[in-house]
Amino acid sequence: MTVKVSHTAEIQSLFNEAAGLNNDQGSPRAKQILLRLINDVAKIIEDLEITDDEFWHSVDYLNRLGARSEAGLLVPGLGLEHFIDILQDAKDAQLGLTGGTPRTIEGPLYVAGAPIAEGEVRMDDGTELDHATVMFLDGVVRDTDGKPIAGAVVDVWQANTKGNYSYFDQSQSEYNLRRRIVTDAEGRYRARSIVPSGYGCAPDGPTQECLNLLGRHGQRPAHIHFFISAPGHRHLTTQINLSGEEYLWDDFAYATRDGLVGDIKFVEDVAAAHDRGVEGERFAEMQFNFELQKAPAAQAEQRSNRPRALQQA
Ligand code: FE
Repeated sequence: MTVKVSHTAEIQSLFNEAAGLNNDQGSPRAKQILLRLINDVAKIIEDLEITDDEFWHSVDYLNRLGARSEAGLLVPGLGLEHFIDILQDAKDAQLGLTGGTPRTIEGPLYVAGAPIAEGEVRMDDGTELDHATVMFLDGVVRDTDGKPIAGAVVDVWQANTKGNYSYFDQSQSEYNLRRRIVTDAEGRYRARSIVPSGYGCAPDGPTQECLNLLGRHGQRPAHIHFFISAPGHRHLTTQINLSGEEYLWDDFAYATRDGLVGDIKFVEDVAAAHDRGVEGERFAEMQFNFELQKAPAAQAEQRSNRPRALQQA
């Protein structure tokens, strides 16, 4: 029979002390959360009869996860980042905040402070043009009544053809494939970029190590990340996942959602390519429009205060 002691007065007194309940310093909120966490971990240890080896391997795993900065990768991998989106959707529905482009996970690879352009921008630095497919991306940002929003900021970031992101991949130039585009008077944004590649977790990293234990792959379909913001409107964090991708509906991070599949079209036409300033005959086009909800309060116009990378000048 399983032995359980976490409920005893002795252990509850220990956990209360450990969570700072016997002092009036610190943060009441942190105490509340840590007390719950300590108790839940203790219950897992008891209920699942966690062995010493399992416990200490888990502690070591956390150290290695942090050392590789992969905590932000494991969280979507375990479905928790998607869960937070679904929870927010449910809270929104309860408040009648519906409509607009669906939100989906941010992921850990945003870098603040990308260059700003009005209306139209080139996103890639040209270094991959010998093998990349040029992609023209454009669309309109509207409100939920269908009215175009001029002056919205489309903050876009994507991987290169190797599935790597600038800043985290120091071989790329600063802010490569990261831009902020301010929509024009018609609410339109336009970007010339390159078709991104999907990517997977590092095969030797702690996230993939965990996924291996779960019998899962760590692959994502090709996708493009967005923050969309405009005064008076609710900040939107989302992604376009590209049609035709092997992992489109088998994304290890669970970011693909109905309404967020971008229909990418590949064109092979020398004259059309030449007209658009592309060498050769092949390029890609994708249109994607966004709809923003009205902001119920000024705070809703801002993205969360999640810690993010900031490029050092
Ligand atoms: Fe990504």
